[in-house]
Amino acid sequence: MKILSINAGSSSLKFQMYEMPEETVLISGVFERIGIENSFYTIKMNGEKIKKEVALPNHKIAFQILIDELKEYHVVDSLDEIKGVGHRVVQGGAYFDKTEIATEDVISKIDELSSLAPLHNPAAIVGIRAAQEVIPNAVQTVVFDTAFHQTMEEETYLYALPYEWYQNYGVRKYGAHGTSHKYVALRANQLIGKENTKLITCHIGNGGSVSAVWNGKCKNTSMGLTPNAGLIMGTRCGDIDATIIPYIMEKTGMTAKEIDNILNKQSGLLGISGVSNDSRDIEDGIQAGNERCILAQEMYIKRIVNYIAQYYVELDGCDAICFTAGVGENSIGVRKKIIERLSVLGLKLDEEANNVRGQEVLITSPDSSIPCYVIPTDEEVMIARDTYLLCK
Ligand code: AMP
Repeated sequence: MKILSINAGSSSLKFQMYEMPEETVLISGVFERIGIENSFYTIKMNGEKIKKEVALPNHKIAFQILIDELKEYHVVDSLDEIKGVGHRVVQGGAYFDKTEIATEDVISKIDELSSLAPLHNPAAIVGIRAAQEVIPNAVQTVVFDTAFHQTMEEETYLYALPYEWYQNYGVRKYGAHGTSHKYVALRANQLIGKENTKLITCHIGNGGSVSAVWNGKCKNTSMGLTPNAGLIMGTRCGDIDATIIPYIMEKTGMTAKEIDNILNKQSGLLGISGVSNDSRDIEDGIQAGNERCILAQEMYIKRIVNYIAQYYVELDGCDAICFTAGVGENSIGVRKKIIERLSVLGLKLDEEANNVRGQEVLITSPDSSIPCYVIPTDEEVMIARDTYLLCK
């Protein structure tokens, strides 16, 4: 059965087509700069990568081109071969704890939640609508980044704010990156060889979050009402004293919107280093002796270590710590520093094993108290799996 996995952004559309249940990737690619000039798309198939520059006025046109290419490459001969299209949705609020079929009621709830994910939820709806028009006979599903975290208990997901804010405005912790944390936890359980495990999964990329996963279920996660909580990220500040916001508003006369923009887009590694949000640039800066890059990375690592320590206690021990996403999969130096700081818990790095990028590997030595794995994430296959199950 052919299933399309879709991740629509406001000006982009990533796709991956699978033959299910084998999970074979038939073709993948991305449409970029949709709705703006100089738009283009890239397609990967059979190890080949093709780039084409073409006008992409909207997502529907991108889908139509995608279908033409699928036919051109004989991935499908007819549209009806595509049985399901799974869409990634960032915010599912408290409505969704699993993947759903994109009914009108579901779509209106995604729309209602747009104020919590203003950049992402409206873009996902645009993607769903475009897919519905272009591939009308396929089952459209929605896979939520927040769904995996719905198993958190009230004492974990509530903020110590007036309870009415939760009741009236839905102010609570929802988390994000759930599909990635779930994939990594499933994979770690396979590597360990059991399902009743206590895991700490670290999704550290440009955005970042740590989750405590107990018997395959999320017990806690570092992101909050929005993805700007928890870890220090590329441009997001993560946890701060909330009173900083009115204090700076009064000092500078900035509006809430301006402050929000700074907390999300000009803080984190970028804000501290003044150099970049990209951890590769920070590492280059450290090599060149840039004090603020050194400081930024120190703060970044300290926050990750603190969350791991917190979740170690919360889980009452830990069977494995897993690293994924851009930094987790590729930064040998960041992983090394995190594991060295955790030596108090008996962690021991295997330097040679850690000397890899983008591969699934055990990076601690046999006498480490807790094994640490690098597990490259695969959110697309999770979308395809859930969509396949709903299509069946
Ligand atoms: P993601 O958001 O998961 O795509 O991760 C993107 C981030 O991964 C980039 O901003 C970089 O900071 C980081 N990254 C990618 N490759 C490397 C690398 N080789 N070394 C260090 N960081 C990397």
